[in-house]
Amino acid sequence: MDYDVIIVGGGLGGLISSIQLAKKQYNVLLVEKYTYPFNKVCGEYISNEVKSFLENIGLDLNQLGSTNISRFQLTSIKGKSLETDLQMGGFGISRYTLDFELYKIAQKYGVTFLLNTSVEDIQKVNEKFFVETNTNQTFETSMVIGSYGKRGKLDKSLFRQFPVQKQAFVGVKYHIKYDFPKDLIALHNFSGGYCGISAIEEDKYCLCYLSDRNNIKQSGGVHEMELEFMCQNPFLLDIFQNAEFLFERPLVINEIIFTPKSAVHKNILMVGDTAGLITPLAGNGMSIAIRAAVIASELIHGFLQKKVSRVELEGQYTDEWNKNFKKRLWRGRQLQKLFGNEFNSNLAISTLKSMPFLLKPIIRATHGKVL
Ligand SMILES: Cc1cc2nc3c(=O)[nH]c(=O)nc-3n(C[C@H](O)[C@H](O)[C@H](O)COP(=O)(O)OP(=O)(O)OC[C@H]3O[C@@H](n4cnc5c(N)ncnc54)[C@H](O)[C@@H]3O)c2cc1C
Repeated sequence: MDYDVIIVGGGLGGLISSIQLAKKQYNVLLVEKYTYPFNKVCGEYISNEVKSFLENIGLDLNQLGSTNISRFQLTSIKGKSLETDLQMGGFGISRYTLDFELYKIAQKYGVTFLLNTSVEDIQKVNEKFFVETNTNQTFETSMVIGSYGKRGKLDKSLFRQFPVQKQAFVGVKYHIKYDFPKDLIALHNFSGGYCGISAIEEDKYCLCYLSDRNNIKQSGGVHEMELEFMCQNPFLLDIFQNAEFLFERPLVINEIIFTPKSAVHKNILMVGDTAGLITPLAGNGMSIAIRAAVIASELIHGFLQKKVSRVELEGQYTDEWNKNFKKRLWRGRQLQKLFGNEFNSNLAISTLKSMPFLLKPIIRATHGKVL
């Protein structure tokens, strides 16, 4: 079967692209490695930038039990703490629920899903793409969106090269029960990383951290690293001592890097983390993925209507991507350098404590306007 658009990966970037294009009556195939619903490493705090957009496409956030988050706490490794109101704020909802609900909306609009299936290679011959899966199926289309997340085997098949980055991170997530305000998101620093906690649905909290992978190597494992490094921060010590951990084991992803990537590669439009991953401490990778999906879908519509050529489409998408996200990603990388190192994090928090008016513009610098 010939599809108008094939989307590789069904996280937020892929799901939103599929909904936007199916709403315009295109024949869309989305291939996703797993089957919904499933858990994913993510801090699960979403900036309000995209709240009304998500509600307008049919997501009933109140009914799903999402939480409203309006305050931010930052702590240093030694436990110095500062707090501020969040100007735009956000909401908390698990990816288990969010992605599943968006999948149901996409199905309603007629998107075809191929679940539990990985795309292994994509070839382009003249104006046709051939998308090959691990189940030995090949699908044809004139447009492919790559929304397969941070980094994957597919990047290798596509000969996608990234600049070498010395420091790689490991991401870990738990759902916990803990005595903590529901309107607060906290970011606790530890040597080599930082850990966020915020409320999601059903009185649960998402505890998610990013750690230098060398910490884990040095300690001998995730649990050992938590005891050795994270528990030096008294706020994290309290969480690890008193929270109820709801997963049997932590959810872990390896080899996270934040190097710049390209928004278009081999004529494939890349969306979300596949085009560039903002450091999680900025707290808005999800809203970036959603916004990029909206931009890509609108431009693809013009291409499928034959209003623009492929070359024009790729140029316009690259320009839009750079205009909307390039600086935000760069600022996120600079901010991350301030944290996760004892000296820098103590200094940054002491400075911000004495000049609290600096915190709001810093948060604003990594966020965009309401979608
Ligand atoms: C530790 C950590 C904490 C974070 N916390 C936050 C936060 O609190 N708030 C926030 O806004 N952002 C946060 N982020 C960032 C956020 O998770 C991402 O920016 C967001 O998930 C991007 O969505 P996406 O659709 O690009 O990718 P993803 O959501 O990762 O989706 C990619 C999908 O592609 C699928 N896939 C992969 N390869 C293939 C293949 N070959 N074939 C088919 N399917 C494939 C995967 O299974 C996956 O479902 C965090 C990131 C990390 C690492």
